Amino acid sequence: MAYMEEVPKFKCSACGKCCRIRGFSSEEKKKFVEEYGYGKMPIVHVVPIDEISFPLWDFEAKRFKEYENDKKIDANIRPSKGIMDLNSDRFIVLNYHMNSEECPFLSEDGKCSIYEKRRAFICSLFPFNRSPFLDIGKKEGNDIFGDCPNILKIIDKLDYENKKTFVSQLYGSFGQTFLAAVQHDHIIEWSNRLVIDMMKNKVIRPAINYPYAFLLKRIENAEKIDFTDFIVEAGIMKKDDPIGVIKKFESFADAKKIVEEYLDDKNLFK
Ligand code: SF4
Ligand code: SF4
Repeated sequence: MAYMEEVPKFKCSACGKCCRIRGFSSEEKKKFVEEYGYGKMPIVHVVPIDEISFPLWDFEAKRFKEYENDKKIDANIRPSKGIMDLNSDRFIVLNYHMNSEECPFLSEDGKCSIYEKRRAFICSLFPFNRSPFLDIGKKEGNDIFGDCPNILKIIDKLDYENKKTFVSQLYGSFGQTFLAAVQHDHIIEWSNRLVIDMMKNKVIRPAINYPYAFLLKRIENAEKIDFTDFIVEAGIMKKDDPIGVIKKFESFADAKKIVEEYLDDKNLFK
């Protein structure tokens, strides 16, 4: 199957613009978080909406804390969302973020100072905000992209009407960047599913519908535990399982399978 005939290949010119984005690049996502993210759902945001920036999964935050020590900088890494578990009286941290106007690892010359190291999904998936596989109940449009100058010649050529063509165009044009976006959405779905299963099995009892100020105070005072540590402690995974799972995430293995099966082409990743 020829995936790219008329849509140009995306090239990142390393302008650093996406390393200076604070807040949401999608209004729709911002509205959703404003409405439901501050106490109405099991996963609760603990930073103000306008400070949400540079998200890191808990397993990414661990190594970013090492990078900050190596570089002798304060990257202001703090929990950004998680679950206040009333069973254990602990806050289970799903995501951290770097609280900064621009990424603390951006050098003065506009280059990433940790480019050679394993970075985070947020660094790999841009210019995507999300992939077309994340079901947000909406017809595809340009909202899947963030504000990147180098997508302008691409977005007009995409077939938004035919999802299969659309996906093959995105994969052909963006390659690994597209896979990173698909994989990131897969991790969101994976963690959401785990949270729901843990609730059903009464492993956790999230605080929902408390007055937000009260909930935030309780979270501030609560002991914190990372999500991947919690699922090991709860016996959902064995001690060394998360290492393999994270490796799989970071090799984009799930994304390759999702895209391959969607396009039904067994030779896609050979
Ligand atoms: S992805 Fe786009 S905005 Fe980000 S550095 Fe590359 S060209 Fe710039
Ligand atoms: S770690 Fe590097 S690539 Fe990622 S946001 Fe920061 S400067 Fe950009």
